[in-house]
Amino acid sequence: MTTLVRDVGETVESTPDAPAIVYDGRTLTYEQFWTRAGRFATALENNGIGENDRVGIYLPNLPQFVTAFYGTLRAGGIVVPMNPQYKAREIGHLLGDSGAKAVVSLADNVSNVVNVLDDTDVEQVVSVGGDVDGATAFDEFLADETNAVVDRADDDVAVQPYTSGTTGTPKGVLLTHQNIRWTTKANADVPHGGFQASDRLVGTLPLFHIYGMSVVMNGAMYSGGAYYPVPEWDATTVMDLIETEELSIMFGVPAMFNDMINHSDAAAYDLDSLRFVNSGGSSLPRDVLERFEDRFGVELYEGYGLTETSPVTHANREGARRKGSIGTPLDGPGDTSVDAKIVTEDFEPVPRVDEGPIDEEEADLHEITGELVISGPNVMKGYYELPEANDEAFTEEDGTRWFHTGDIGYWDEDEFFFVVDREKHMIVTGGYNVYPREVEELLFEHEDIADAAVVGVPDERRGETVKALVVPTPDADATPEEIKAYCLENLAEYKHPREVGFVETLPRTTTGKVQKFKIRDGD
Ligand code: AMP
Repeated sequence: MTTLVRDVGETVESTPDAPAIVYDGRTLTYEQFWTRAGRFATALENNGIGENDRVGIYLPNLPQFVTAFYGTLRAGGIVVPMNPQYKAREIGHLLGDSGAKAVVSLADNVSNVVNVLDDTDVEQVVSVGGDVDGATAFDEFLADETNAVVDRADDDVAVQPYTSGTTGTPKGVLLTHQNIRWTTKANADVPHGGFQASDRLVGTLPLFHIYGMSVVMNGAMYSGGAYYPVPEWDATTVMDLIETEELSIMFGVPAMFNDMINHSDAAAYDLDSLRFVNSGGSSLPRDVLERFEDRFGVELYEGYGLTETSPVTHANREGARRKGSIGTPLDGPGDTSVDAKIVTEDFEPVPRVDEGPIDEEEADLHEITGELVISGPNVMKGYYELPEANDEAFTEEDGTRWFHTGDIGYWDEDEFFFVVDREKHMIVTGGYNVYPREVEELLFEHEDIADAAVVGVPDERRGETVKALVVPTPDADATPEEIKAYCLENLAEYKHPREVGFVETLPRTTTGKVQKFKIRDGD
């Protein structure tokens, strides 16, 4: 059995002096990074933390995240990544549910951990960025020696991220060593000619989320490229970094690409060093894709995935791309691949369209859409200690375990898949179904609109009606009435937003998803 840890160990042996992590003007070579990860592993062991013990990493994107991540895996432990924006209550839930024995936290956040300590099994708190009461400073925690790697089996759990999925309560997702190794290799090797050791990857995606962790951080460490962690998204900082450091690969979410094209100095930037740019995490409006490509002269590929699938299941790639599509199922090492299909509520395959994207105005979406289900080497072992959620999440069919994504889409004869929306976002108004994404795509095409989100709000007569919130561009002069009229002109009457609100920003998660419940509740 070969784990990702062994793979990265091989990278270290072949390129010990190459830059592994570059942050704030300092570089850790592969050898330095690996030594530190080994010392972290030894420190865990010295504190009685080892096989199958959980270690919470409660950090923004910093070199110490990478060290603690690989150190935990080397000690045979399980990484529980936690959003650094979480407060004590949220952290308490994650630490308590996972049974974490240790946690690495930003010094400023240690008090959040200390506040909930009594309700957890945490024995060791390690702080980054300062010496604070109740914690051992990161560099002090590192032991003197570097231990050998503890062997893990393919089926052993490596990472336990938390996701809210389709329900409100965060669920622990058990991703095995095989899951994360497969995904890392599939992404680093396949869709875009492979990551090279000469690549420099910009780490804008948060590491607590599987997309930033698996695809960017692990992809970089596996292929020998340099990883540039960015603790907080800011378009100016990132565009400066790409330009000055000549970064070559960027993975992001649509909101980031939207910020880049709307940047007041966008035209002044030369981002020619980028050779591969990929969007995922939520649907990429076609208008954003095209404007990004026009402005920066580099192709923007879309992929799709979920925490439960480690994450990537679909990708567009060179020579196989359709705008508006999430791409085709991901191929991995050897002849392994993701399997995907679109099914009805009775788990019957929905017939494919000839060639997508179809004109959603013309088509009867009822006939051609269904739920996207996935099987493959990247699909999680299951939710942690939640048998009912596991029963709901999987359907067993002829020996294959299919995971229900909760996303609605269609597929075509060429294996391209199209996500129409999430099941729970669909608006039912006067008996008609409206997929917010279609209305959002239209809003993005309007020159006075920088950002947009569409939700259903309760309505006595129609059950629900369509509401749009838009962020106007700085020199916009359209009124809400004009936006409504524009939608009416371009969409069936029942789809147009009856309410249009102008706002300065939309509530988004750090992984770029609009928090639609906040808009519905009028927050
Ligand atoms: P997470 O578990 O946070 O990674 O969220 C997974 C969800 O993100 C999926 O179920 C989709 O609803 C959404 N998502 C990810 N990528 C895309 C995409 N390219 N298009 C549409 N939705 C996406």
